[in-house]
Amino acid sequence: MKSHARVVVVGGGVMGVGLLYHLALEGWDDVVLLEKGELTSGSTWHAAGQCPHFNGSLNMTKVHVYGTELYSKLQKLTGQAVSWHGCGGLRIAQTDEEVNWFKYVLGISKLAGYEAEIIGPNEIKRHHPFLETFGVKAAFRTVTDGHVAPADITNAMAAGARQLGAEIYRRTRATGIQQLPNGEWKVSTDKGDIVCEHIVNSAGSYCDVVGSWTGHNVPIANMLHHYMITEPVQELIDLKMELPVVRDPYSHAYLREETNGILVGPYETETAHVCWNGQPPAWEFESELIAPELDRLTPWLERASERLPLFAKAGLKSVISGAITHTPDGVYLSGPAPGPKNYWMHCGASIGICQGGGAGKYLAQWMVHGRAEINMREFDPRRFGNWASKAYTAEVSVADYHHMYYCYKPAEQHEVGRGLRMSSLHDRLKAKGAQFQQIYGWERARWYDPSGKGEEFSYRRSNWWKSVKAETLAVRERVGLMDLSTFAKFDVTGKDAYAFLERTCANKIPAKDGGIILGHLLNENGFIESEITVTRLAADRFYVLSAAVAQLYDMDQFHWRMKDGERVEITDVTDAFGVLVLAGPKARDVLSACTKADLSNTAFGWLTAKQIEIAGVAGVRALRINYVGELGWELHVPMKAMPRVFDALMKAGEPHGITLFGTYAMNSLRMEKAYRGWGGELTNEVDMFEASMDRFLRLEKEDFIGRAASLSLKQRGPRIKLVYMEIDANDNDARGNEPVYRRDKVVGITTSGGYGFAVGKSLAFAFVEPALAKAGDEFEIMMLGEMRKGRIISEPAWDAKNERPRA
Ligand SMILES: Cc1cc2nc3c(=O)[nH]c(=O)nc-3n(C[C@H](O)[C@H](O)[C@H](O)COP(=O)(O)OP(=O)(O)OC[C@H]3O[C@@H](n4cnc5c(N)ncnc54)[C@H](O)[C@@H]3O)c2cc1C
Repeated sequence: MKSHARVVVVGGGVMGVGLLYHLALEGWDDVVLLEKGELTSGSTWHAAGQCPHFNGSLNMTKVHVYGTELYSKLQKLTGQAVSWHGCGGLRIAQTDEEVNWFKYVLGISKLAGYEAEIIGPNEIKRHHPFLETFGVKAAFRTVTDGHVAPADITNAMAAGARQLGAEIYRRTRATGIQQLPNGEWKVSTDKGDIVCEHIVNSAGSYCDVVGSWTGHNVPIANMLHHYMITEPVQELIDLKMELPVVRDPYSHAYLREETNGILVGPYETETAHVCWNGQPPAWEFESELIAPELDRLTPWLERASERLPLFAKAGLKSVISGAITHTPDGVYLSGPAPGPKNYWMHCGASIGICQGGGAGKYLAQWMVHGRAEINMREFDPRRFGNWASKAYTAEVSVADYHHMYYCYKPAEQHEVGRGLRMSSLHDRLKAKGAQFQQIYGWERARWYDPSGKGEEFSYRRSNWWKSVKAETLAVRERVGLMDLSTFAKFDVTGKDAYAFLERTCANKIPAKDGGIILGHLLNENGFIESEITVTRLAADRFYVLSAAVAQLYDMDQFHWRMKDGERVEITDVTDAFGVLVLAGPKARDVLSACTKADLSNTAFGWLTAKQIEIAGVAGVRALRINYVGELGWELHVPMKAMPRVFDALMKAGEPHGITLFGTYAMNSLRMEKAYRGWGGELTNEVDMFEASMDRFLRLEKEDFIGRAASLSLKQRGPRIKLVYMEIDANDNDARGNEPVYRRDKVVGITTSGGYGFAVGKSLAFAFVEPALAKAGDEFEIMMLGEMRKGRIISEPAWDAKNERPRA
């Protein structure tokens, strides 16, 4: 065994091996994989091997598409036999909302480049003559889906990796991981130690145990999942084709053909639970099944027999029951672990056979090149903070498993695992009808429902419409108040704080106390990593804000950019401050009734900050900035004192018709102002020129991370360009990831959108080919299956001169 390697991957399932292969393909040959048993001896060997394309996320779809394309040609690439069955797939819809979802996903299929169509019940029979279509509204048909023997693809990728110089040590168990003073990692094994630059946790069902060695919280639960296979049935022996894989919400199961028999795998909606009583399996557990729990499956198997009567006729041949890793959001963890650099997670997959190839490709890109070509935010392990405790993880992962075939509508979330992080105003807002959404553990109001009925979740405009219109117009015409305590907040202090931020940010850091700037953290390639707001409190003291979900992510961004010996301290003050956004033409009148501070334009201008006292509460950081484009302040109030300040503002606002508003209204208001959003318009896939953010790029600064690359990117010119559009929408607005067409050809993609109530327009951002990014240019956007006209507008739909925030 080697004593040193560039990368050590712990775990030889499809995820670990998929990564090893792609690291080698990217040119890193000094890479090693440790497997305690034989390759695939964890969850991989007993998986059913389905590889679907259908997915509501564009990035995940790209992972799926890459995998299926790779698996069908792996044999040619590696010389190892791979039994790929390209039989296609049918996903069943029983409700109108499922059909809406299919229409949205059809748009994604156009962007990701796979063949799909939505077909009616009568057409289903042409593709699957044995399927009963009672209660079926439509099916999403994919042509290139299939299934594969999981061991085949894993062994083929292992062979491919070895051919490129990677080494695999079977029967070698990692027993500990430790970081060395020089930043490298020492992996102890039962065969000796190995030191590496990068360590990857791909330990499947054991990944939380392996993570615990270095103090990492790995939010996964092991679920017990079953499928069964029948004896061959004559009808399938006689059939000249292989039936497509069916995914059916009625039986909550996948149903397919397997060696002329039928394979059925249900995801039970109430009775599934974690296996091994939530404890990790013994180290000796290898290529074993877990005792099946057939009773809990019975209702679902009965339904499967109704949907596919052939299944009822056939004798049962085998039952497979094994552990499947599951995260609270059902998406695997792939990317840096929080904390010291070069510890990577690559685990938690519940559809790992399908995803192993693509997940490996994109993580390998990130590790080798510093960024992946797709947006990795939804896979990043740091999307879970420490609030994702063991109990939360188990409860929510089980709920997610129960809902594998449920159609979650936009904004609809699990009901369990809630109330983890709340601002001190929570009860007050709830009493006013706040409809909460969980974001990074926080409860944040989407909108306020005076009827108390709650949201009717839908892909189309729904019962929130009237209330959100009233909320937005209150901000435009009078004054609104919003609790936005979810911001991630950092105090950056020390003698070198200014120099550190100057080097870290693409924008110029304020030279005067009280100055505020919008800053972007770029990677060495010049692509966008983060967006932050920096307020200078003093020469050696800065207050930095970023997105709620970026709390751990941005902490890493800061630490990883720090130089040895730099005198900078970064303190996470997220929970110490609540945030109230007071905005609208009457904001000054309301705030001045609660404070003695001079709020006049000369004393307190746009993009400046002051520490003031409000309603007797000292130490409020008042920032004259907002994301809605009106006169107003963001008030960062010590969390405990929030109720006092809130009550005072509400009272002072009463004569002005103050109105609470939520994130739906904020989205509408920021769309009217053409404010971009991190994660939508601003991602690691694009540079500042492409995102039309170059006014925040200060290339004249001597140096900052990403400057050299930005200079070359400027020379090269944009590959795509962000544009702002109005759309002739019907009953739904752009949500992002809709294809943009010009004369039947896909030429772009929407990134986000919403309805602007004050301007009476449906608005969207989109990336299009640069030659087409001209004001007035027209496109067609596929929105829930319908082609809608869109045209580029060259300036913000609301207050293009930006006079209102400066009023
Ligand atoms: C019944 C069933 C059916 C399924 N059907 C499908 C399907 O149709 N399609 C699909 O996409 N997915 C399916 N899955 C899910 C799929 O099996 C998993 O998502 C996938 O196998 C996870 O791969 P992995 O590499 O993360 O984990 P694993 O395959 O469990 O690999 C982890 C490896 O790490 C090794 N290891 C752990 N700790 C150490 C250590 N300390 N040192 C060295 N080695 C270590 C283990 O021995 C193991 O081999 C199914 C799962 C089950 C249970």
